[in-house]
Amino acid sequence: MLELPEVEVLRKDLEKEVVGKRVKDVDVRTAGIVRPLHRNRPDFVTALEGRKVEGARRRGSTILLDLDQDKTWIIDPGEGGSLHRETASETPGGDTHLTVSFTIGGALHLSEGGDEPTLSTGVVDREHDLESAGIAPDALDLLDDNPTWMEFGRFLAAADKPLKLLLIDPNYVVGIGAVYSDEILWEAGLRHDHPSATLSTQEIRRLYRATQEVIVAAMKAAGSSLDDAEVEQLVDDEGESAEHLRVYGRDGKPCSRCRRPILRTRLKKGVYTYHCAQCMI
Ligand SMILES: [Zn+2]
Repeated sequence: MLELPEVEVLRKDLEKEVVGKRVKDVDVRTAGIVRPLHRNRPDFVTALEGRKVEGARRRGSTILLDLDQDKTWIIDPGEGGSLHRETASETPGGDTHLTVSFTIGGALHLSEGGDEPTLSTGVVDREHDLESAGIAPDALDLLDDNPTWMEFGRFLAAADKPLKLLLIDPNYVVGIGAVYSDEILWEAGLRHDHPSATLSTQEIRRLYRATQEVIVAAMKAAGSSLDDAEVEQLVDDEGESAEHLRVYGRDGKPCSRCRRPILRTRLKKGVYTYHCAQCMI
């Protein structure tokens, strides 16, 4: 899944490349991706064609493009979706589910491999866009909300959940998934099952600093992503993790702090954590 840092880089690219452009043609190749918000394909196409993109926002991993007429174009990359900029004449690949071209050139392709795409998109009234996108109103966006460490501490105390499960729960924190939850906890030196309500002041500050550092480093590593089809592949085909990752995908490899092997532990169905037993307490 694309997590907050990669999506923030995408958002900045969209701000540069797409804001100010008017939608010309919309081609939905997989009806399922518009179903959560539209009756059918024509309903979505009618809502998006001819609209002008006026702004690019993000909440967690969801992209919210402001359109004229007080509408919002929601793009939720789901578990494996990605967004790429192409020329208007580029033939879409087999895993492309939506192409949108613009009147003054260029196109966006929304893609995801596999049989069942999890990405979704739709056009809604801006007034209710977060609700339409299914984003929990009280969930924290660690970049957007820019909490102070004391606010963050109060949030951790109120949530009272094991740290890893808290970080990946979109009812509490948006845009952090399997990768950066592990990276943040390694950076902070805190165990995945440490209850969020029992952190000392020093641990809260460490975790707070780790969230900021990991997100900023990941944004730098993501660089410019609209043209780079590989950005979402944080672990490549040989199982090698991207260079900026310290624990995710590195099981069996030495921890870069203490040299002991990184462990991969199953927390519950479909949820794993990569961690160091020595320096995460
Ligand atoms: Zn270690």
